[in-house]
Amino acid sequence: MRYIDSHAHYFDARFEEEYGKEAVDQLIDSLFETEGLLAAINVGTSPESSEIALRQAYRHKRMYAAAGIHPSDAQEIADLDRALERIEELLADPRTVALGEIGLDYHYEGTNRALQHEVFHRQMDMAQRHGLPVIIHDREAHGDCVDVIRAHPCVRGVLHSYSGSAETAKELISRGYMISFSGTVTFKNASRLAEVARALPMAALLVETDCPYLAPHPFRGRINHSGYIPYTVAVIAELHGISPEECAEITAENAKRFFSLPLD
Ligand SMILES: [Zn+2]
Repeated sequence: MRYIDSHAHYFDARFEEEYGKEAVDQLIDSLFETEGLLAAINVGTSPESSEIALRQAYRHKRMYAAAGIHPSDAQEIADLDRALERIEELLADPRTVALGEIGLDYHYEGTNRALQHEVFHRQMDMAQRHGLPVIIHDREAHGDCVDVIRAHPCVRGVLHSYSGSAETAKELISRGYMISFSGTVTFKNASRLAEVARALPMAALLVETDCPYLAPHPFRGRINHSGYIPYTVAVIAELHGISPEECAEITAENAKRFFSLPLD
């Protein structure tokens, strides 16, 4: 089975803690060489992690990067103008294929929603200027996220680790968006999300790990990596009545086309 992981964070400290510094590169190489991993998008969450994500992408032939400021990281930033400038510089690199991850996260109490909105809006404007797709993080902020998306009709993107309704997903798909499913769709208590995945056309679906987080069943709670993508693919394949190989191929083609990945 050949697949693309549309959303990973290989710079996350959990990888080094688990495998050791050099072993992270070895792990990634082995996923590309001996597993079916065709490509992976290494997604930054701050100017610093976006820079590391890009550097890692240069060390692995079929790894690409995304640069952006995550809503939860926005609050840690002292000089927002400078941080956004840094993101814009990273977008100019040919290995950066998207702006992300950006969005809204209302999960934690006391988050500065006004700041999250400002950072999200400014990065959507940036995506429009650069003609790049966005990778959107939407946690417990579905309505507000869709409002920002509607306000930027020229921008296309991916809703990553999707957790909203089928109805919202269908509206986003009609706006040129893709819907990406992570290991959460395999969880035993995920029947609602599974119904959403079943209701959407395969042509609009991507798969991802969000590693090191969200490992699929039966690895839930463990450190995740792109080699577990087949577990997520198998669940989506069953929901759509197709073979896992076909599901992997369709989602890989979707990712390749959507992010204009230069794979042959
Ligand atoms: Zn992520």
